[in-house]
Amino acid sequence: MPSGKPWSELVVFLGYGQYCPDGAALHLLARCRFLADRLGSRLTALVLGQELPASAVAAAEERGADEIVSLEAPALAHYHAEAFARAVGNLLRERGPGLFLLPNTLEATEVAPAVAGMLEVPALTNCIDIEIANGCVVVTRPMFWGTRHVRIQVETGQPLVVTVQLRDGSPVQGRPGNPSVRRVQLPAEAEPLLTRILGGSEPAVADIDLTKAEVIVAAGRGAASKSAIKLVEEIAELLGGAVACSRPMADLGWFPRGRIVGTSGKTVRPKLYLACGISGASQHLAGMQEAQTIIAINKDPYAPIFEVAHYGVVGMLEEILPAFIENARGIRAGDKLP
Ligand SMILES: Cc1cc2nc3c(=O)[nH]c(=O)nc-3n(C[C@H](O)[C@H](O)[C@H](O)COP(=O)(O)OP(=O)(O)OC[C@H]3O[C@@H](n4cnc5c(N)ncnc54)[C@H](O)[C@@H]3O)c2cc1C
Repeated sequence: MPSGKPWSELVVFLGYGQYCPDGAALHLLARCRFLADRLGSRLTALVLGQELPASAVAAAEERGADEIVSLEAPALAHYHAEAFARAVGNLLRERGPGLFLLPNTLEATEVAPAVAGMLEVPALTNCIDIEIANGCVVVTRPMFWGTRHVRIQVETGQPLVVTVQLRDGSPVQGRPGNPSVRRVQLPAEAEPLLTRILGGSEPAVADIDLTKAEVIVAAGRGAASKSAIKLVEEIAELLGGAVACSRPMADLGWFPRGRIVGTSGKTVRPKLYLACGISGASQHLAGMQEAQTIIAINKDPYAPIFEVAHYGVVGMLEEILPAFIENARGIRAGDKLP
């Protein structure tokens, strides 16, 4: 049992609308069941939207939440950072000093600091672990583009907002519970929101489902040229695989966002993941490190990607990929021999 005053509760954001329950949030909820037991705190699953999805209730039950709180209002039907932050901030203010945890989604990068600002409490964002070590609550956070990790000891009892993308394989199940359900219809906003959503449209459906691909060839910033991408696409085609990318490659417009692997994109577990010119920042590793076999090509022998790669090739993509392609062609030609 950690020393210090306990938090009254751990509140885990489970998701909103059609994105509830969020897979990463369920993982987090299961971990928080363990933490809450050790800390002697209550565990609450928080849902936002217009109604409470039955799947969210079932998932929170399975992972042992003590309570499910569903904040419901038309303004929460779609993602709206300001409306979300206000709704959550007001709830947390009413419930006393707690630890508010969100999975490390793009939405959380906006909502978490906004809630922390509203409550004037600290926020630790973009974390990859939360655990109890030597009797203290310790949060792990990447720094310097993911090349270093810091472990931060936090004081229990002090209100805190944390966004976490758990990277380990701890069980997603937790232990079952029998949560009470509190559905709160929020009144119309007394103060108008600063921004109003006029409408929305879905982005074009990703042409492929990366999560189903058995072979993935991923392009990082080291492949940010037409000629390198052509090589990446060629090897992917020869291996019968899908092309994915690191987030900057989508930010730079080389690939659609549906191809991102990592905390801002897809989590994939292919049989083969060939990382081309990817440094291996923790946000990327979170999405691919459970691949059965990882091969990395990078010109930098100290690139962190080599820490998770089963096979590493130090060299320039422009030299290595043509050799891979030649070999793959040879194997395929060999396949056709009787
Ligand atoms: C909140 C948040 C969420 C994020 N989410 C994601 C996410 O989901 N996915 C993601 O990928 N990133 C994400 N990022 C970004 C992440 O931190 C890294 O910046 C990013 O992963 C780096 O992409 P990269 O490896 O392609 O580029 P870089 O880090 O620039 O690495 C390029 C690599 O290519 C190598 N290289 C260069 N030229 C060659 C060559 N000719 N041949 C061989 N090797 C070469 C270099 O040695 C280098 O290691 C996120 C960041 C934040 C803050």
